[in-house]
Amino acid sequence: MKVLTHADFCRVYTHDPAAAPGRIEAILEAIKTDFPWQEGGYPAGLDDLTAVHTDSHINRVSRQGLFNIAALAAGTAIEAATIGLAEPCFGLIRPPGHHASADSAWGFCYFNNMAIALEHLRRNHQIETAYVLDFDMHYGDGTVSILKDRGYAAIHNPSADDRLSYMHQVQDHLASAKADVFGISAGFDNHMQDWGGLLRTEDYRTLGSMLGETCSRLGAGCFALLEGGYNQQVLGLNVLAFLQGLSGL
Ligand SMILES: [Zn+2]
Repeated sequence: MKVLTHADFCRVYTHDPAAAPGRIEAILEAIKTDFPWQEGGYPAGLDDLTAVHTDSHINRVSRQGLFNIAALAAGTAIEAATIGLAEPCFGLIRPPGHHASADSAWGFCYFNNMAIALEHLRRNHQIETAYVLDFDMHYGDGTVSILKDRGYAAIHNPSADDRLSYMHQVQDHLASAKADVFGISAGFDNHMQDWGGLLRTEDYRTLGSMLGETCSRLGAGCFALLEGGYNQQVLGLNVLAFLQGLSGL
């Protein structure tokens, strides 16, 4: 299990909840004993960005002054996905990406880190099929809009009114899932003390272990990318629980 991050993700690059001061540091502090991180270093190249986004969208992000940090998140996502083919890897990155479509973005997202990473693996013939589990509380509309017609990725955005139904739904979908790599859009804003108010910390551990077991059973690669999660009192503990589950601790 590897954790990949970069000092620049601690920078407050804009004024939104994903860019809030201390958010990344809170996660690093909570996981440091179990999961020492290593620094990713490469921004995504234009070829990787244009495989997913229009030139006009990329230019718009540049004009907002956010190209460098968004490209670094996407590049770190690619690196996490590549490592994930050999062992599970968590990309501790921001800005998040799952609300970024080919030509637009909202919800604190700019480039679609998940789609860019999967498209990189596919274009380099490292995978033929992918499965995306997006357990952020918000529907990952950008990821769906980019990947739905490309024919190689199944995407599950679980949704339920109670936590047990939610967990069963994930389990049911994973039981029949089959892919070369599993990409997890790991948002923690559905925690009972965060915006969504649904899941317990132990549920993130269970999600991690269900995914770890599925990938082991299938011999599939596995990587996760940080999306939402805004209550810094519990965010680090939730990430820790998820990583412990994923790595079988
Ligand atoms: Zn969210």
